[in-house]
Amino acid sequence: MALVNIHFLNLQNNYLFADIAKKVNAFKVMHPKAEVISLGIGDVTQPLCPAVTEAMHKAVDEMATAAGFHGYGPEQGYTFLREAILKNDFLPRGVHLDIDEIFINDGAKSDTGNFQELLHWDNFIGVTDPIYPVYIDSNVMIGRCGTYRDGRWTNVRYMPCTAENGFVPELPKGRPVDVIYLCYPNNPTGTVITKQELQKWVTYALKNDALILYDAAYQAYIQDPKIPHSIYEIRGARKCAVEFRSYSKTAGFTGVRCGYTIVPKEVSVSTLTFGRDGSRSEELMQASLFPRSNATFEGERISLNQLWLRRQCTKFNGCSYISQRAAEAIYSPEGKQQVKATIDYYMQNARKMLQTLRSLGYECYGGENAPYVWMRTPDVFQKEIGAMAPTSSWKFFEALLYGANVVCTPGVGFGPSGEGYVRFTAFGSHEQTDEALRRIKDWSRRSNSL
Ligand code: PLP
Repeated sequence: MALVNIHFLNLQNNYLFADIAKKVNAFKVMHPKAEVISLGIGDVTQPLCPAVTEAMHKAVDEMATAAGFHGYGPEQGYTFLREAILKNDFLPRGVHLDIDEIFINDGAKSDTGNFQELLHWDNFIGVTDPIYPVYIDSNVMIGRCGTYRDGRWTNVRYMPCTAENGFVPELPKGRPVDVIYLCYPNNPTGTVITKQELQKWVTYALKNDALILYDAAYQAYIQDPKIPHSIYEIRGARKCAVEFRSYSKTAGFTGVRCGYTIVPKEVSVSTLTFGRDGSRSEELMQASLFPRSNATFEGERISLNQLWLRRQCTKFNGCSYISQRAAEAIYSPEGKQQVKATIDYYMQNARKMLQTLRSLGYECYGGENAPYVWMRTPDVFQKEIGAMAPTSSWKFFEALLYGANVVCTPGVGFGPSGEGYVRFTAFGSHEQTDEALRRIKDWSRRSNSL
C-alpha cells in the first residue's frame, strides 16, 4: 500500500493571494465599472532590458546550430555565469568565494525550499515573523515544525519583527535555535539590517553551532552604501551561512527563472551524537538497526557544500543555457546600466508611496532599500473593546478596496506579527502607482475613520 507523507497534510492552506483575488472579484462583480489597481502584487511589471533579450536571442540562435547546441549543462551552472557572479557581485564588496561555492538555480524559491532537506528532521528552526511563507512550509513538509495551534507551529521559534524592535529580531533566548532563516532586505516589511546587527546573528550562530539560511533576493534594491548586500561581508559568516540570490527582482527574471545559492566549503553540520537528547539517541539506535555502509553517526562534521552538490546532481538538471546567458548579460556594462534603470524606476514608486502615505499621517517602514512599503494600519475606536486599537490588516484591506479601489496585501497573511500592517509593492507602472496614490489621498481625506 502506498502511504502518503502525512506531513503534507499538516500544511495550512495559505490562501493569502487566493483570498485577496476572491475578495477583489466579489468587489468587481458588485462594481463592474470600477477599475481596481493592485499595489499588492509581488511580481515585476517592467520588460526585460535590451542587453538581456539580445543575449537570449543570441543563445537561441546558437542552439539552432549543431556547433552551438547545448544539451544538459553542468548541474552547478555554467562557468561563464559563475565567474561573472564572483567578479561582479562579490569581489567589489571584498568577498572572496571559490567558483565551486556557487550553485546556479532556477530561482531562489526552489533552493530556499529545498535546502532544508540536507538537515536532520528534528532541528529547531527560527524564523523572522512576518515571513516569506516558503521557509516554514518547506520545513512542515518534512515534519520539523510540530503541530499548528492558534496560528503558530509549536516547534518553530517565531522572532517578531515589528516597529518596536526596528524590524530586526532579538537573539533567541532559552532553547538555542539550530537553523535560522533571515531575509534582508526583507519581504514583506521592506526593511534592512545593518552590519552590526547581522554580526550579532553570525556570532550567535558560531557560538551555538547554528546554521543561517540568508535570503538576499532583494539585495539589488539597497541604496544605502553602509547596508550589507551579502552575509559574507560579515566576519565569520563563511563558517555558518548559506546565501540565496535571485535575478527575479534584480533583473525582471520572474518568468525567465535563474538565481544562485552560495554554499561556502567551511559550512558544516554535525551528525547525530549520543546523549544530546532522548529523541536523537532513539533515532541513532534505529539507524543502527538499519546500518548504512560507512555511517558513523558520531558527531562528525559534514560539509554542506559537498552534500548540496550531491543533492543537486541527483535532483536538478540545471537552469537552461538561454537563462544563464541572459543572466550573464546583466553584468555587461550596458546590462548593469539598464538593470539599474529599472530598479531606479521601481524605487521612484517606493519613494512616492512613502511620501504620500506619510503625508496622510500613516506610519510607514521600508521602501528606502527595498521595493516594499510596510504600513501600520491606523488606530480606530473598536466598539467591542471600547477603546482605540489598530484596524486589523484585513479590515484595512477591505476599506481601501471599497473606498479607493486599490489593493494592498494584509500583513497578517505573512505571519502573526504582520497583524496591524499592510504591504504595498513598488512593482507597478508609474502611471498606476500615481493613480493609486491619488485615490488613496482622496479616500483618506474623505474618510476620517474606518
Ligand atoms: N525570496 C523572497 C524573500 C521572495 O520574496 C521571493 C519571491 O517573491 C523569492 C525568494 C523567490 O524568488 P524566485 O524564485 O523568483 O527567484
